[in-house]
Amino acid sequence: MTNQFILHIDMNSYFASVEQQANPFYRGKPVGVCAYLSPKGCIIASSKEAKKVGIKTGCLVSEAKKLYPGVILVKNEPAKYRSTTEKIFKILSDYTERIEPYSIDEAFLDLTGYIKNFQQGEKIALEIKNRIKKEMGEWLTCSIGLSWTRFLAKFASDICEKDNCLIIDSIKKMEQIFSQVKITEAWGIKQRMERRLNQLGIFTLLDLKNFPVSNIMQALGKPGYYLWANANGIEIEGVRTQEEILPKSIGHSYCIPKQTNDLKYLSAVLMKLCEKTGRRLRESGLEAQGICSGYSLKYGGGYFKSQKTAEPLFTTEEIFKAAYNLILQNPPETKVYMLAVSVTRLKPLAGQLNLFYKAKNKNLCLALDQINDKFGEYTVFSGRMWGMGEQAHDRIGFRKSIAILSKIDQTIYEKEQI
Ligand SMILES: [Mg+2]
Repeated sequence: MTNQFILHIDMNSYFASVEQQANPFYRGKPVGVCAYLSPKGCIIASSKEAKKVGIKTGCLVSEAKKLYPGVILVKNEPAKYRSTTEKIFKILSDYTERIEPYSIDEAFLDLTGYIKNFQQGEKIALEIKNRIKKEMGEWLTCSIGLSWTRFLAKFASDICEKDNCLIIDSIKKMEQIFSQVKITEAWGIKQRMERRLNQLGIFTLLDLKNFPVSNIMQALGKPGYYLWANANGIEIEGVRTQEEILPKSIGHSYCIPKQTNDLKYLSAVLMKLCEKTGRRLRESGLEAQGICSGYSLKYGGGYFKSQKTAEPLFTTEEIFKAAYNLILQNPPETKVYMLAVSVTRLKPLAGQLNLFYKAKNKNLCLALDQINDKFGEYTVFSGRMWGMGEQAHDRIGFRKSIAILSKIDQTIYEKEQI
């Protein structure tokens, strides 16, 4: 055991609770937050009352109505959940600057150095719970896990009762809990892994803890070591702040169907790539201080250049100007088949706390993003993109983005694919 103190907080039935907080008529009733209200739309979050009648995440709207005809179905409002998260994270930031936003409704807090023992940690956990209820609304409850590793803290909040707090403060307590829960309750162990562990004779987390590490590494490799270390209370990753998990770059490339070196056409494609790049940048609450752009030529060769920029890049227009400038330094002389752009040297937007804020002087850009969020991609866009139509489709949902804020949209998107 080390003297680390990690807290994991997980909001209960988050989107549904936010809706119940916003509308008193929804409270105490089965509520399903849906991606779309059409019969084929699916539930992305259900209230605890809805869960009781069997309406779970992933359930179709038509199924939910069959399960409980009186169910209240609400279309999701990402902006509402984001602003609530922003406020909750502000409360959390009063306790440590080492916060890892894990998802829209979960975070890790590293309290090491701020507290001396788990009793003090418990006090903080209860205070956080009370402050959220008091400052945000009584309907917003959470589960909190507290332990000495990131894994154990998350494990504790996962198995903890709703609106409660579970502390794993000793090996003895850890072993006692490990002997009582199913192995698949552990963070990251799904049925497939369970089967492989069963084959090794590991049936409980306690078995996993006591298994010879060399044997498990032989059978499962590095992931085997991680499982074993987690079950032995050995820290693997620790809490990673926003700065530490920043991506190195954000960018898009596109193989253009109409291969040409016509700069007017290429600049329109480039603008669209910059718009997509810019949107991901803004969704992540980041700005860039570097640009990279270029092209590949149909008959071999190409040109790519990167540059540090004097001013930070944030808007699509800024990204486009920087990217197009690089290309103009060496315009293609023969047909281009691929264009690419990426922004580099990323950092959280200046003067702002983490990613949960709105930039004041960049509101127009964010407003345009919101309109496009609401009414579909490219409802509003730069004149330069006219005539681009369906080219350079938005691929959100297909690639894993680090953006916590965009995670919710991706979740919605991915669930819609079921
Ligand atoms: Mg949750």
